[in-house]
Amino acid sequence: MGLLDDGFARKIAAQRRAWDMTKEHENKNREPRQPAAPKMGVCDKCHKETMVRAFRSRQTDRMDGAASFGTVFKHYCEECAPKSRAQKDAEVPQLTNKQVKNLMRSAKKGLL
Ligand SMILES: [Zn+2]
Repeated sequence: MGLLDDGFARKIAAQRRAWDMTKEHENKNREPRQPAAPKMGVCDKCHKETMVRAFRSRQTDRMDGAASFGTVFKHYCEECAPKSRAQKDAEVPQLTNKQVKNLMRSAKKGLL
């Protein structure tokens, strides 16, 4: 009885550890809600080489009757970027042309 209890307790403890590790892993991989800072890249929509931001979008594929879910990253320039309601409501200060040029220059030098 004592041996059995010990084994059972160990198994539970191991399962709990595994569960905690899984939770930690999930938390680490959770992306912030705000889109990432702009960087040099090619827009996925207009294929312009400009300052782009990564946007997470959910993708659902249906193959052979089985649905698979995945998250893909799309890069959009400021013009093509999907605007959330919160972003529309908030008064976001726009970068001036000079600031954009500075950013582009920094990006080309690999500073970003
Ligand atoms: Zn674009």
